[in-house]
Amino acid sequence: MDSHATILFARFFFVLFLVVFCSLCVCSEVGGVVEELAATMPPKAAKSKEPVAERPILGRFSSHLKIGIVGLPNVGKSTLFNTLTKLSIPAMNYPFCTIEPNEARVFVPDERFDWLCQVYKPKSEVSAFLEVNDIAGLVRGAHAGQGLGNNFLSHIRAVDGIFHVLRAFEDPEVTHVEDTVDPIRDLEIITQELRLKDIEFMDRKIEDLEKVLKRSNDKQTKLELECCQKVLAWLKDEKDVRLGDWKTADIEILNTFQLLTAKPVVYLVNMTEKDYQRKKNKWLPKIHAWVQEHGGETIIPFSGVLEQKLVDMPEDEAAVYCKENQTISALPKIIKTGFTAINLIYFFTAGPDEVKCWQIRKQSKAPQAAGTIHTDFERGFICAEVMKVEDLKELGSEAAVKAAGKYKQEGKNYVVQDGDIILFKFNVTSSGKNDSRIIWWV
Ligand code: GDP
Repeated sequence: MDSHATILFARFFFVLFLVVFCSLCVCSEVGGVVEELAATMPPKAAKSKEPVAERPILGRFSSHLKIGIVGLPNVGKSTLFNTLTKLSIPAMNYPFCTIEPNEARVFVPDERFDWLCQVYKPKSEVSAFLEVNDIAGLVRGAHAGQGLGNNFLSHIRAVDGIFHVLRAFEDPEVTHVEDTVDPIRDLEIITQELRLKDIEFMDRKIEDLEKVLKRSNDKQTKLELECCQKVLAWLKDEKDVRLGDWKTADIEILNTFQLLTAKPVVYLVNMTEKDYQRKKNKWLPKIHAWVQEHGGETIIPFSGVLEQKLVDMPEDEAAVYCKENQTISALPKIIKTGFTAINLIYFFTAGPDEVKCWQIRKQSKAPQAAGTIHTDFERGFICAEVMKVEDLKELGSEAAVKAAGKYKQEGKNYVVQDGDIILFKFNVTSSGKNDSRIIWWV
């Protein structure tokens, strides 16, 4: 090759190099702009109709949730627990788990379940139950170890909701740990103890997180610390954690703590039988006003002595007593409200063999619900065939529900609703192998 040709060749390569280099630069610039635009533009509308994700609920995600009876000593907690125990499911029905003396599993009354049992006349009937724990009385100073302080508070940590029992009955025979009957003062004592315990927990948590952040600059730890500082300020402002309007990310962090004031509360006001019967008690308006100011949760009046009387009578005698005295037991309402308060719901499976309530946490999707029956059902979930008890009642038969187009086939994103009657379809093949399909029907 002569020198002229060599120069021409070199120029050609130089120009080629320049062209490639420039186009690469432009591409990366454009790419950057596209990326920026993509970040500022809303995401493409999903093709399938995905349900809008609900904000997660504060508390454990489990179908084994329980509620604890909390209050000062001598307010009627054990009386309530004992009456509930008499209505509870015999321990022999749970051969594979231990029921402690302070635990009771109480049937949840439900007309829909009774109706399904009448229709299917099944060999086995399994209703829903509420697990109730009797927690010994808290006293002023419990957070600092007064009484059996820390012990009681750790028992409260283990439950998912609180029945807060208040004493609104006078009885000179029954002493009050604070000498006088004053349920507003009692409310303040208990809520303050729970809040102080949470403050202590958050202080320690913040200290630990700060230590970690000194060693590393982890982003997640920083977020956790910010959340804890927000929660601590909230608690120091004398507000309970469950009443805060927390973001999803905060709730996810909070759910790893099991804070005492994050648990839902139902207030149970224990009054004399006479007050309960005439629906009048001098403390009730004051309690109502206090609760309205502190979250507005449910208040249920009851009478410990009346409930004790009724469970000690044979059923027919109790019915006559209620009719003659124009009164009614508050226990069914207490049980149902407690069950809902801790965010439990149930779906039914119904057939001639069994009508059963399967309890699940609210917001559970169909595969998770299927998993309460058997883990295989969740693993091999295909779909859920769902009908509503109301539709079955109204239309008279499963075939009629189908004909009316109200028998729905739902996929893995279906959020199970309380009272759904569900038939799951699933498919499990031995892992990794392409064995013949086994399809089970529930
Ligand atoms: P706890 O310490 O909160 O568990 O309270 P208990 O249930 O042991 O009740 C303390 C005392 O109050 C017992 O003697 C009960 O019989 C009595 N008691 C409970 N409920 C009532 C009520 O509604 N009226 C009256 N007069 N006494 C009650």
